Amino acid sequence: MESSPVTVTISALDAGHLTLPERLFVTDADSEKRTTVPSLSFLIQHCAPGKTRPTRMLFDLGVKRDIERYTPSQQAHIAERQPVIVSPDCRESLLSGSATITPKDIDLVMLSHVHWDHVGTPSDFSSATFLVGAGTLDLLKNGDGPLYPADLFNDDELPSDRTIELPPVSLSGVGSGRPQRTRPSDSALARIAPYLDADIWTWRPRFTFSSTLDLFGDGSVTVIDTPGHLHGHVNLLCQVANSKYVYLGGDCCHDPRILAGDKGIAMYPDGRGGLRSVHVDTGAAATSLDRIRDFVESCQRPVETEVVVAHDGAWRERNKHRFWPGKL
Ligand SMILES: [Zn+2]
Repeated sequence: MESSPVTVTISALDAGHLTLPERLFVTDADSEKRTTVPSLSFLIQHCAPGKTRPTRMLFDLGVKRDIERYTPSQQAHIAERQPVIVSPDCRESLLSGSATITPKDIDLVMLSHVHWDHVGTPSDFSSATFLVGAGTLDLLKNGDGPLYPADLFNDDELPSDRTIELPPVSLSGVGSGRPQRTRPSDSALARIAPYLDADIWTWRPRFTFSSTLDLFGDGSVTVIDTPGHLHGHVNLLCQVANSKYVYLGGDCCHDPRILAGDKGIAMYPDGRGGLRSVHVDTGAAATSLDRIRDFVESCQRPVETEVVVAHDGAWRERNKHRFWPGKL
């Protein structure tokens, strides 16, 4: 008899809000329309067979509650995203949802990518090991080309002794060879050894995706390489029941109408005589969206997949009961 798959529970967390001008994100936009949207965080609890205590992971940390802790260049950018709402942030949502889990109980924090509205306040999670896409520490220190100079990032955002970059994905190399991966320290690897075996992490094709990584080695949480938005951008495919997946899409798109095919990715002047989108590589971002669409379409009943992107305000309104301590 086939054994049941290992599943995880997921709870949404409010982790701040920001305001997006529609014209920068979707085609055929209302040029005046601005929408205040959440930057969602998710609590994922993984209970391995035989273990009494689940491994607790956060996916994305949203907005910092203290705007002063952003660099001056980040603050200048944030001024264009007002109103920005910093309360409740991820920490506050975790604490107010239920007393059963405190920030120090969080074992892992995975960031979909390190834009200002996803990095939150890492120092709140003093026991956690941080997992990020390959090249992220280089990106935080040195930036990545003219669209993303170093001053749009905090060099000391993540604790280097508690941060592990995933192995590099050769298929998504963006040509220049950088940002380059920083090898994790032995002490960082030792921290996660009780619940994760980084030695067996390998990117493999799975489902409709060319590069996936089985995080816990049991199929319950699959990291999906989703290049295009920012170097190191990753998504998570989580199995929450025998026949149900939740796909956490980060910033694969900022507006679910793009994933649905009702809107395209907006292009706008880059200030240097060309055009850009909100993605560092628009073509790669479009291909990543195609793979996600293909995956959702390939899931035949009774298997169901729910896709949740970080800034989907309509999803938040419809799903208030699924915020911590509720679950997806
Ligand atoms: Zn982003």
